[in-house]
Amino acid sequence: MANDTKRFQAIIGHCKEYGFIFPSSEIYDGLSAVYDYGQNGSELKKNIKDHWWKSMTQLQDNIVGIDAAIFMHPTTWKASGHVDNFSDPMIDNKDSKKRYRVDHLIEARIDDLEAAGKQDQAAALQQDMDRLLAASDLDGLRQLIETQKIKCAVSGTSNWTDVRQFNLMFSTQLGSVSEEASEIYLRPETAQGIFVNFLNVQKTGRMKVPFGIAQIGKAFRNEIVARQFIFRMREFEQMEMQFFIRPGTQKEWYEYWKEQRMQWHLGLGIPREKYRFHDHVKLAHYADAACDIEYEFPIGFKEVEGIHSRTDFDLKNHQEYSKKKMQYFDPEINQNYIPYVIETSIGLDRTVLMVLSEAYAEEDLSTPDKPDSRVVLRFPPRLAPVKLAILPLTKKDGLPEIAREIMNDCKAHFRCFYEEKDAIGKRYRRMDAIGTPFCVTVDHQTKEDGTVTIRHRDSMNQERIPVTSIRETILNYIS
Ligand code: ATP
Repeated sequence: MANDTKRFQAIIGHCKEYGFIFPSSEIYDGLSAVYDYGQNGSELKKNIKDHWWKSMTQLQDNIVGIDAAIFMHPTTWKASGHVDNFSDPMIDNKDSKKRYRVDHLIEARIDDLEAAGKQDQAAALQQDMDRLLAASDLDGLRQLIETQKIKCAVSGTSNWTDVRQFNLMFSTQLGSVSEEASEIYLRPETAQGIFVNFLNVQKTGRMKVPFGIAQIGKAFRNEIVARQFIFRMREFEQMEMQFFIRPGTQKEWYEYWKEQRMQWHLGLGIPREKYRFHDHVKLAHYADAACDIEYEFPIGFKEVEGIHSRTDFDLKNHQEYSKKKMQYFDPEINQNYIPYVIETSIGLDRTVLMVLSEAYAEEDLSTPDKPDSRVVLRFPPRLAPVKLAILPLTKKDGLPEIAREIMNDCKAHFRCFYEEKDAIGKRYRRMDAIGTPFCVTVDHQTKEDGTVTIRHRDSMNQERIPVTSIRETILNYIS
């Protein structure tokens, strides 16, 4: 399934219909590349966040978490290189006024060549583009677009402007009076909040290298080509961890974290063949090695997480710009040094999309006499927005009262959902559609022998268990 646009559209539609993800401020026709999480999406997102946080902090001996502010001193972004380097080459079509990322425009041409069976030409063009991008040769890129006769999809013309670098950071004014206000940026990554707090955490936590600092938070990028649902947003969330190490040990730690992070992904129950590593050829300004973990979305293999060996680039620059020492005294070797850093950086929203893409299934349940189907989200139970649905078979005969008691017994431990309306089959299907792994049904037998039916989402198998063991059973499944 290389590029299954239909499936992708079905997932987007499902997310909206079942309260996972809505376009932002939809009543005003939405805001491009900004999305809101609904009642089920926010639970799913929070569960993924908690799972990452636990595995990256609580289950590690030497990693702690912080929560830094979104606004940072503007010099931070000078020191990090974002003011000068965080840009993409862009080109505008003069007739349609549409702006394109140059690499996307040329990549579309490469796709066309490949589709036409002209593999050699496609490979040559890819090589030319990579070379020009690596050399930041903007005139060369402009010429390449011209010689390839690339046209704007909207106007159909080749009336292009020059290629320019376009910074992706959003800026705003800090201060109430315009004369006194200074320009600041919305952070384009959470990592810098960790770097500027490196010494605060190291000293107050008495941390010894190697150690890590983790953080989850919003980041903002003025993405020019913002599409593909929550894959590329202008406001999104990152889950990042910076691991501080002794200089010279970066190769081992880089390999270690590549492996660790892949294990984390596999722990989500996603098979290995749905992932691949992609090594960076053109390294970012701060890195001496970098790769992406890519997942096979319905729109093809795409980056979910980046693992970067960032050297001492960030701490060294912050030391230079702030004039504050960023050194660490290593008692084991009796030396002062600026630690090197391995970063793991995963997009929370992309992880949500990955988990949704993996979970979404359309199943044909037809029998010879009856056509039937269902849409089910096969989430790992611990990530599911609702863990247990409690459903009295009827609204009378004391069944709702028993169901309410079960609800009261369970709701402090995991998220439950109570519903008594509609036929039981319909209620099961609604729970399948939001990925609820377990439903218990209270029926007349419950009154006699104190048992309920528990229905498993994936197999649709049902069994009877005592009311008294419901809480424990579900806790076992989700732990
Ligand atoms: P891309 O090449 O897709 O633009 P990137 O290499 O710039 O991504 P990083 O700077 O390495 O991304 O950021 C780390 C992670 O943050 C990415 O792996 C991705 O999951 C997430 N991320 C980055 N940009 C966005 C975005 N615009 N919307 C959603 N998630 C994003």
